[in-house]
Amino acid sequence: MDTCTAIVGINWGDEGKGRMVDLLTENFDIVVRYQGGGNAGHTILNQYGEFLLHLLPSGVFCKDVVNVLGNGVALDPENLMHEINALREKNVEITPDNVMISERASLLMPWHRRLDALEEARLKDKKMDTTRKGIAPFYSDKYQKKTVLAGELFYPDLLRQHLNDLREWKNLILTGVYGDAPESEEEIETWVKTYCEPLKPFIRDTGEYLSEALRSNKRILLEGQLGALRDLDYGIYPYTTSSNVLACYGPLGAGMPHAKVDRIIGVVKAYSSCVGAGPFVCEFFGEEADNLRKIGGEHGTRLHRVGPIDLVATRYGVKVQNATEIALTKLDVLSSLDEIPLCVRYRLDGVETDQMPFPSLLDRCEPVIETMKGWKCDISRVRNWWDLPEEAQAYVKRIEKAIGVVIRWISVGPERHSIIIRG
Ligand code: GDP
Repeated sequence: MDTCTAIVGINWGDEGKGRMVDLLTENFDIVVRYQGGGNAGHTILNQYGEFLLHLLPSGVFCKDVVNVLGNGVALDPENLMHEINALREKNVEITPDNVMISERASLLMPWHRRLDALEEARLKDKKMDTTRKGIAPFYSDKYQKKTVLAGELFYPDLLRQHLNDLREWKNLILTGVYGDAPESEEEIETWVKTYCEPLKPFIRDTGEYLSEALRSNKRILLEGQLGALRDLDYGIYPYTTSSNVLACYGPLGAGMPHAKVDRIIGVVKAYSSCVGAGPFVCEFFGEEADNLRKIGGEHGTRLHRVGPIDLVATRYGVKVQNATEIALTKLDVLSSLDEIPLCVRYRLDGVETDQMPFPSLLDRCEPVIETMKGWKCDISRVRNWWDLPEEAQAYVKRIEKAIGVVIRWISVGPERHSIIIRG
């Protein structure tokens, strides 16, 4: 029996993982977030309304599903409390029975967010265009062993001392390096009282809980954030996130290092999109980009860069994620195009390659584009592979051939049931 499944991004993120988790959650007992934090933004459209989940696993809408925030997550209590309150306002039940937080998850502190913004400001036109959610300063501190674990909230005296020591060190950086205001003890105390205290009922030894769940053959879904090209070790460094997003890291960040991931569902978008700075070989510009952004709903606080599907990067993403099957999303977005472009290879210094080059070489790559005939009709109501226009089927098969892994789901709209299941 398949006990452990991961749903992960193959590209730069925003592939539509949230909608896939929402669709498949009813087949699972437990959904776990294993890395990342408030920088995630999974959009879910269901019977309760439209939601943008940053920290909570996308299983919170399913009755009887337990949602775990694992030790690998950047636990931002402020963000999480806002999210919990927003869901409760829409009658979504959030209790310690359906949401659990690992006692080993580190707290993302107010100074992490401030340092993120201060460093971006210092970099000026060389900035990384981060989400400013404090993710890089948080993970740097975790590696330096200078974070507070959620479980420390149960030991107030030790916690106060630990926070004071960290605050003292952080203030040297805030004031000395960036010339900004220090954090006061009172501010941090108030922040802990407001945002961390209410989380205490949710905090427990989730590692033990998950081990027991595995022993009793509970079905566990690992929910990845971002995509393979943003993985700290295997992505387009340094334009990556600060954690490992790959499915193979899932068991570690979830809190069950002994678990094997049986199925890895890779989510691929029918075209490319990328938020943030860094090389993006097959980028559209001008009107072409504006049109795709508009029909793809590619907008947010930061610019969504867009382009045709990148088969070089997608094949690489599939490989490093070790995906066993694929969900292709947003195929409906391409319905108005006469011709669909695909980036099939890169040209690096005049030589064509279908292998992903070393990150520093990507700026020298040009896309080799092929086009396929468009289907030019609305496919958003199609629910059956055989009802898809021939041209759309050909496009899906072309991608499948390039990546060498079966495309089992084709999403044709943001709603839960706008999906074609193949085979
Ligand atoms: P995630 O970060 O990978 O979970 O992706 P997002 O939640 O950011 O999804 C990107 C956007 O695409 C959201 O607004 C989704 O509602 C939307 N979306 C997902 N799948 C589809 C699809 O098949 N068609 C269309 N038109 N929109 C989709």
